[in-house]
Amino acid sequence: SVSTTKLAKVGRLLIVGAAGFIGQFVAEASLDAGRSTYVLVRPGHGYPSSKTNTIKSLQDKGAIILHGLIDEKESIEKILKENEIDIVISAVGGGNILDQLCLIEAIKSVGTVKRFLPSEFGHDVDRAEPVEPGLSMYKAKRRVRRLVEESDIPYTYICCNSIASWPYHDNTHPSEVLPPLDRFQIYGDGSVKAFFIAGTDIGKFTLKTVDDIRTLNKCVHFRPTSNLYNINELASLWEKKIGKTLPRVTVTESDLLAAAAENCIPQSIVASFTHDIFIKGCQINFTMDSPQDVEVSTLYPDETFRTLDECFNDFLLKVDPKSISNNETPTAKSPVVERMTITATCA
Ligand code: NDP
Repeated sequence: SVSTTKLAKVGRLLIVGAAGFIGQFVAEASLDAGRSTYVLVRPGHGYPSSKTNTIKSLQDKGAIILHGLIDEKESIEKILKENEIDIVISAVGGGNILDQLCLIEAIKSVGTVKRFLPSEFGHDVDRAEPVEPGLSMYKAKRRVRRLVEESDIPYTYICCNSIASWPYHDNTHPSEVLPPLDRFQIYGDGSVKAFFIAGTDIGKFTLKTVDDIRTLNKCVHFRPTSNLYNINELASLWEKKIGKTLPRVTVTESDLLAAAAENCIPQSIVASFTHDIFIKGCQINFTMDSPQDVEVSTLYPDETFRTLDECFNDFLLKVDPKSISNNETPTAKSPVVERMTITATCA
């Protein structure tokens, strides 16, 4: 009925990890959709100014900032109850996946959350089987799924595939970096396709699913055919934008496996996913034949996805136009965004 739809739309939404890479897109989309958006921020963190600015800008757009940790059951229960949270979206990072076990216990004991979206935002972890160390992250995500299901918490799993950007095999947040300006590293023969989704669309379509009955207890796959590219095609698209062809260097399957086997975290995790995507074809080597599967562009046929062409135009804005017009080697404008340094730990 109309009244239930209206009620569902005003659901209060809590986003965990909103200052993170994926969480930021989700939080922005929630605010754009006019939802009551609560954002959980970890207390007492010496944040770099970029994160403080992210949180401040979400607050300026109407987000309500709450301080807490999802791995502290009592405090998260209190937050869920006091703020009458209806929907919880978690976007905690790869190293904190199991922190969600405590959050799930809290959601279960409060009993009023109508939908939980655990931190997924990648591949279908029950289907894909990357090499280590990526596999360990999938095992953690599988453990989270099983606890959600055993706890009878209404859920949606978002499998949004790759973010629209150049898929560097050693970078967890590749859309923050320009596509190559000197040479392309092509994985294998460069012919295996993958889905590249704009970060803003990851946010936008995630938000559409949160009170859609068709996505209740489903795995939502992002497979818009317009965004299906192989890495050779991606390279050609970027060459068209910068008006220059660049050398292509092959990164073989064994190169990727060696980078994974180095066990440097997080780079080796990305290498194992890169191998799974561009050598094994984990995004395209299955049919959506389980009753749990739904596909996002089929669910929302009237909504368009940003194209790779549009996303690459955004990257082009960050290239020094003089270097292109003078037919020199293209160079980036000086970076305007403060980048987080990711410290690698290697076994
Ligand atoms: P980030 O590391 O960028 O951000 C994680 C956020 O979670 C941070 O804001 C962090 O807080 C917060 N957080 C972590 N632990 C806790 C806790 N115990 N309590 C409260 N908040 C917590 O994560 P990503 O955006 O890289 O990853 C999010 C998800 O997206 C992951 O599942 C990852 O696998 C997936 N992903 C998918 C990509 C794709 O291309 N499809 C690319 C990258 C990630 P603080 O700010 O205090 O550190």
